[in-house]
Amino acid sequence: MDKKIIYITTSPGQTKKLGFLLAQAAASRGNATAFVMALGGDLGAGKTRFVQGFAAGLGIKDAVASPTFSIMKRYGFKTKESAGAFYHIDCYRLRSGGDLAFLGLDGIFNDPANIAAIEWPELAAGLLPKNTLRLNFEVAGKNKRRISLKAA
Ligand code: ADP
Ligand code: MG
Repeated sequence: MDKKIIYITTSPGQTKKLGFLLAQAAASRGNATAFVMALGGDLGAGKTRFVQGFAAGLGIKDAVASPTFSIMKRYGFKTKESAGAFYHIDCYRLRSGGDLAFLGLDGIFNDPANIAAIEWPELAAGLLPKNTLRLNFEVAGKNKRRISLKAA
């Protein structure tokens, strides 16, 4: 079966809702490994909007913004089905040759209670688990975004 699917959203709210629904699926999954998503695509393509919806879908009440000053932010979550931590990682600032080693990503990705979303994942490519869900965001119009999902 084709392992890729494409969604077209026509408002930021729809992109958030895609994140929201996916989070509910992620929270009720079998807990064999961490659930890791690599969010690729240009600046302004909707990655952070998606993460905001995703966090809301995990019941996280904190406002989720681009972790501009902090490469990584951790949010505890608890749903009916599961509890754990959601990590929002943004490698954008590392483009000028930063180092991800200090984040301890291995430990995060090895704990099945964790869920992680990584913006600008190219830099972390070698560190991501094999079963990372790949999402790619493209601007397709003023309010239109083309979002592809690809399983490993
Ligand atoms: P990124 O994290 O990929 O850089 P953001 O989520 O921060 O992008 O920003 C996306 C911008 O595009 C926001 O200003 C948002 O309001 C706007 N936008 C317009 N239409 C959409 C859409 N369909 N989905 C997501 N964002 C959209
Ligand atoms: Mg962003």
